[in-house]
Amino acid sequence: MLIELEKVEKIYNRGRANQVRALTEVDLLVVAGEVVCLRGPSGSGKSTLLAIIGCVIPPTSGRAAIAGKQLARLPDRFLTIHRRESIGFIFQRFNLLPTLTVLENVTLPLLPLGIGPRERRQRARRLLERLGIAHRENFPAGQISGGELQRTAIARALINNQPIILADEPTAHLDTRLSHEFMAIMAELKAEGKTIVITSHDPLVAEDSVIDRVVEVADGRVRCC
Ligand code: ADP
Ligand code: MG
Repeated sequence: MLIELEKVEKIYNRGRANQVRALTEVDLLVVAGEVVCLRGPSGSGKSTLLAIIGCVIPPTSGRAAIAGKQLARLPDRFLTIHRRESIGFIFQRFNLLPTLTVLENVTLPLLPLGIGPRERRQRARRLLERLGIAHRENFPAGQISGGELQRTAIARALINNQPIILADEPTAHLDTRLSHEFMAIMAELKAEGKTIVITSHDPLVAEDSVIDRVVEVADGRVRCC
């Protein structure tokens, strides 16, 4: 099992006036190679759930095991290493640095890993070629199109060959054609054996044939496991 959540709860600002219960008793199992869509209305807890799977934030309680590691047992330093090795995260607004070039953005996650500049460039170029944006490698990310931004963000999420790819509302800022392109790239990654979790309330995502299973998220709870 690649992703195993058991009775996961998330409470933001616990004990304070602005306390929010974002997740309640969430059980979720995802096997290697599966593609899952977390679907639910805005505010239902999808991003919180994805951030916990992505080892970005810890659950308040419950058990979370991601890629064979119990998160609660990992000291912060090891959690960061585990995240870099296991998770490729595609953020809703792509989170690219606009003044850095496409190539620099893509190689960024490799900097803390002690991989030399030549290998970093080689790996990034391979991905940019594969994604059809090699001709943009020296453009600042602030000067490329929406579709190119999206591909750059995907390349960055893949650069360390992580087994798990997470995407938070990836089509929210894309038109229909680019949304279909995104799903086509996900289909390629699935064929390579990647495990993918995508949050979305876009029917174009949930109804795409690449999705093996739709998990409904409502008011901080998941309806199916
Ligand atoms: P979704 O992605 O489905 O829109 P979220 O996971 O972003 O849902 O949010 C779930 C609930 O948690 C919402 O009520 C939201 O306001 C709250 N929330 C999300 N992030 C934070 C945060 N960092 N601090 C406090 N509350 C938060
Ligand atoms: Mg969200």
